Amino acid sequence: MPKLTTSLDVYEVWFLTGSQHLYGPETLAQVAEQSRAIADELGAAPDVPVRIVWKPVLTDSDAIRRTVLEANAEDAVIGLIAWMHTFSPAKMWIAGLDALQKPLLHLHTQANVELPWADIDFDFMNLNQAAHGDREFGYILTRLGVPRTTVAGHVSNPAVSSRVGTWMRAAAGHAATRTLKLARFGDNMRFVAVTEGDKTEAEHVFGVQVNTWGVNELAEAVAAASASDVDALVAEYEDLYDVVPELRRGGDRHGSLRDGAAIELGLRSFLEEGGFGAFTTSFEDLGALKQLPGLAVQRLMAEGYGFGAEGDWKTAILVRAANVMGAGLPGGASLMEDYTYDLTPGDERILGAHMLEVSPSLTSAHPTLEVHPLGIGGKDDPVRLVFSADPGPAVVVALSDVRDRFRLVANVVEVVEPTAPLPKLPVGRAVWKPAPDFTTSATAWLEAGAAHHTVMSTAVGVEVFEDFARMLRTELLVIDDETTLRGFRRDLESNAAYYRLARGL
Ligand code: MN
Repeated sequence: MPKLTTSLDVYEVWFLTGSQHLYGPETLAQVAEQSRAIADELGAAPDVPVRIVWKPVLTDSDAIRRTVLEANAEDAVIGLIAWMHTFSPAKMWIAGLDALQKPLLHLHTQANVELPWADIDFDFMNLNQAAHGDREFGYILTRLGVPRTTVAGHVSNPAVSSRVGTWMRAAAGHAATRTLKLARFGDNMRFVAVTEGDKTEAEHVFGVQVNTWGVNELAEAVAAASASDVDALVAEYEDLYDVVPELRRGGDRHGSLRDGAAIELGLRSFLEEGGFGAFTTSFEDLGALKQLPGLAVQRLMAEGYGFGAEGDWKTAILVRAANVMGAGLPGGASLMEDYTYDLTPGDERILGAHMLEVSPSLTSAHPTLEVHPLGIGGKDDPVRLVFSADPGPAVVVALSDVRDRFRLVANVVEVVEPTAPLPKLPVGRAVWKPAPDFTTSATAWLEAGAAHHTVMSTAVGVEVFEDFARMLRTELLVIDDETTLRGFRRDLESNAAYYRLARGL
């Protein structure tokens, strides 16, 4: 199997232009020239991360349907941008839109920024009529119930190109999710409710294959790691991290670091051989593994793998999606768990962490590599990277199975520096303030039945997840500066009705 890729370079987005034959070949040639220029300008914008491929102007329903079918069949195509440069009677689009299986962005723009007031004649009006051509298109999209993101404005406006870039990131996350294979080592933590879920429905909604392997198959791969490969990986650790003296070559506990390196080699080979992009572990089911995988999981998450602890495959999906959506941006994505609070009135903060498994992509600093006992699991002391997440804006997102559907809940947060050093908390951790305030955030989160595990992204914001949820036709509740408990509760009630009705009778 090819190695996992988290780059956006492998993807493309097709740029479709709608018109019709009414205007004659000369006008259609102008439409083609102008739409190609708009596509090029958009593609050259710095915050547009995916290659745009311009397609010939569409003037009849057969061409539209064929283009959509080609886009469906092409794995590299993660979405379509459609713009009605002139007027494209929308019944021509019905068959194509009906066949569409890729995310759609409706770009409402035009070739010119300013009107040439003194020179406008009716030829100009006929050539530049997206103002109503796109309204016709919006009508058919709404009538057919096509999920899409609508972006309005000239492509030279950075707000427009940035919004298109955000949608592309969501489309990349969507594409990565639809081809994701997830390996679970062991089952969910015993008796835990929220990490359970309908795996068959998950494959239908998200496209993810979620399957389980006995942990001793992983342990066999770990045992197969060669001494020379362990040597090389240990040298890499010593290069990249501040390894504590007891773990270094010649140190008292160097054997623990070698065990950690063997776990990484075995895990990596298992995932690569099976073509997996995400995985889960369970501290209750470690079989012949000597340690709970900590360091290995942290490094694999930072490379782009999805991960969930305690068998939490739903959060593993989110971590993989967030890694792809944030590709190339500063910051990262990680499994996170709301752990404990500082409830100082007016300055409440959440301390998030996990037993071990927080991705070092959340820090720009040099983590330390340490070994400490773990109170649960009954195994050897695990090696782990220790750091605090960089301060800055972030989002935490949880995925729950609420019986008849999946629900995403997102909270916009601000990661802050820990108030004081945490010398006795040797794990990766983050301290944050939730929007709009602690009471509203925590109350809304609890009433939504959102999970204690999340993905934290410091690379992308909530807008990417909003597009992502729309592409998946999955509920998303957002808790941000505009959230009130009254409005949030109303959303919970109306969503309960909406998502049942939207599935049809
Ligand atoms: Mn946990």
